[in-house]
Amino acid sequence: MQLSKVIDGMKSFEKATIKMKDPAKVANMVSQLVSEGPSKLQVILDFDHTLTRVHDNGNKCACTWEILDRSDLMPQMYRDETNRLRDKYYPIEIDPHMTIAEKVPYAVEWYTQAHEVLIKTGLKKQDLVNMVKDSTAQFRSGTDRLLEDLHRLNVPVLIFSAGLGDLIHVMLDQQAKDHDNIKVVSNYMRFDEEGKMIGFTDEMIHMYNKNENAVHSSSYFERLKGRNNVILMGDNVGDLHMADGVDNPNVTLKIGFLNQPSEERLAKFLDLFDVVLLDDQTMDLGNDIVSRLM
Ligand SMILES: [Mg+2]
Repeated sequence: MQLSKVIDGMKSFEKATIKMKDPAKVANMVSQLVSEGPSKLQVILDFDHTLTRVHDNGNKCACTWEILDRSDLMPQMYRDETNRLRDKYYPIEIDPHMTIAEKVPYAVEWYTQAHEVLIKTGLKKQDLVNMVKDSTAQFRSGTDRLLEDLHRLNVPVLIFSAGLGDLIHVMLDQQAKDHDNIKVVSNYMRFDEEGKMIGFTDEMIHMYNKNENAVHSSSYFERLKGRNNVILMGDNVGDLHMADGVDNPNVTLKIGFLNQPSEERLAKFLDLFDVVLLDDQTMDLGNDIVSRLM
């Protein structure tokens, strides 16, 4: 289904396949978002493989953790240890017989140990810039424009990530712009006076706690009272919880990037997201909607 056929004047998306369970509902939501305008809107985005590409012409693009895993500036010990942890914990993450509640303690264990290994490497803050520059991590085509337009429209943008906040800011600087309407809630490193990494700031954000986090108890959503319309984008069902703190939500348009399509995952995504994009490596849909607000 082409969104262009559903929504008047919507550009067609030739490269990506768009799926919707209820196209009429999506058309309604978009027209309501547009008619109520930017002053009623906030945008909530996952980072890894939502704002960034999964692949570039078939070549895999790194997520924030993989920027470190693959960097020549990191010692071999780091790669060995992170591989060992992945072998141990990834099967638990994808185990279809375990509930999320059962998986959470293992996710916390995985993150805690990964953090400890990272501290042992003596990572330097000044190396982050080159690590990102030399990596395969890149924004989807059009992500920079989306952020630029949302800045111009004064629409608050929350980036909510279980990745690494320090690397997210470096990427924004290098490949887009770290606009002042963007707030990044993520895992942040602590450094000593010499710029050596010595730990993480208190709160850990992992794939299962995007619903119960400081941002929801802090003043962030409080400040955004009256912005009851939300565009949410994610590539994981856990990302749907990012908007849990929104005050009195009206329209919440949920856009899901299904990066490893399978029939089972597509059925699940179609139940949970309003629009599902199959193997899309662009931000065309988001840009098309936001351009209607300009
Ligand atoms: Mg993601």
